[in-house]
Amino acid sequence: MNMDWFELSCKQASKLLSQAQERRLGLPERLKLRLHLLACDGCTNFLKQLRFIRTFIRRYRDGDLPE
Ligand SMILES: [Zn+2]
Repeated sequence: MNMDWFELSCKQASKLLSQAQERRLGLPERLKLRLHLLACDGCTNFLKQLRFIRTFIRRYRDGDLPE
C-alpha cells in the first residue's frame, strides 16, 4: 500500500497551517495536517503560536484589549 499521499514535510505542514488562517482547508489537507501534528512537536508549537496570534489580533480588532 502506498502511504506517500499523507506524508507531509514540516515545510508543507507549516504552509498549510498558514493557509488555514485564511481559507478553509479541504478534507485531505486537514487529515494530512492532523497526522503530521500527531507526530511532530515542532509544527504543533507553530500551530499554538498561530492560534495565539490570531486570538490576539481578533481581540485587538474587536476593541477587547485592556488599556
Ligand atoms: Zn512538522
